[in-house]
Amino acid sequence: VTERRLDPLTDEWRTFATHRQDRTFLPTVEHCPLCPTVAGRPPTEVPVPAFEVAVFDNRFPSFSATPPAPSLESTDLYSVAPAMGASEVVVFSDQHDKTFGDLDPERARLVIDVWAERYAELGARPEVDYVFMFENRGEAIGVTLSHPHGQIYGYPEVPPAARRELEAARRAGRCLSCAVVEVEQTDRLRLVATNASFVAHVPFAPRFPYEVHVVSREHRASLVDLDDDERDDLAAILALAARGYDRLWDSALPYVMSMHQRPTDGVDWDDVSHLHVEFTPIHRGPTKLKYLAGSEIGAGSFINDISPEVSAAALRRAFEEGA
Ligand SMILES: [Zn+2]
Ligand SMILES: [Zn+2]
Ligand SMILES: [Zn+2]
Repeated sequence: VTERRLDPLTDEWRTFATHRQDRTFLPTVEHCPLCPTVAGRPPTEVPVPAFEVAVFDNRFPSFSATPPAPSLESTDLYSVAPAMGASEVVVFSDQHDKTFGDLDPERARLVIDVWAERYAELGARPEVDYVFMFENRGEAIGVTLSHPHGQIYGYPEVPPAARRELEAARRAGRCLSCAVVEVEQTDRLRLVATNASFVAHVPFAPRFPYEVHVVSREHRASLVDLDDDERDDLAAILALAARGYDRLWDSALPYVMSMHQRPTDGVDWDDVSHLHVEFTPIHRGPTKLKYLAGSEIGAGSFINDISPEVSAAALRRAFEEGA
């Protein structure tokens, strides 16, 4: 079964891709499908002996350009749709043990250029309304391959997290990220790192205690709106964040990295869409996970036991040491 179903109670689409159950789970280095193909071994997903950055279609796609027909028909109450869209894999390096933070500046910059190119190409497809770049890092996040890589989903709609932000800005009648950047730069209480084009800060009201948002100082709607220097600065601050998180408790901290930018649904979002990257670690201490429980799952209301200013101070130290 590969299909989308609309939950009538929340008006949210959910995607079902049951073949994903068969994915390879944490293969050893010799069987890593994201390593380059070497002579004398079976071919991997990347059929060359060395590469800088590789992009290809996910073999276990959640969304595709030619999805199968849904397993059942829509009714008055229940809508079903094919899982139309795109699922791609971006491999950051041909070296198995690197992380985004280990990449040299030129390589990290190349990842930004590849993302910008995929944003433009996937976004131009009529079936793709939102191009979403993300990285799941660490087994605690459910990562099935340890080789450094990210994913790109081309959704056939603007997904709920992005839509909520855009609609809040529409209601406010201004770009709220521009407002946040200005305040965070001024009062510096939650600032974690900065460079010429970006600031990294703990949100005023994060969902997770060690969440960090990387936001462009100028109003830029998407990756393709960044100039050369800004792309270098984005690469640098994302690598700094990856290293900083590893320094926080001297262990590879699992996180989700997600990029929010302008939808590609043909609607003019330019004034309220502001490029930012959200890092969401799921830990609340070196060995403690923040579990989603009654309030978060049942009510959708996050409760935290660490003040954002306190976690920002710890992150600031870790990010400075990693600089
Ligand atoms: Zn590998
Ligand atoms: Zn803005
Ligand atoms: Zn966001």
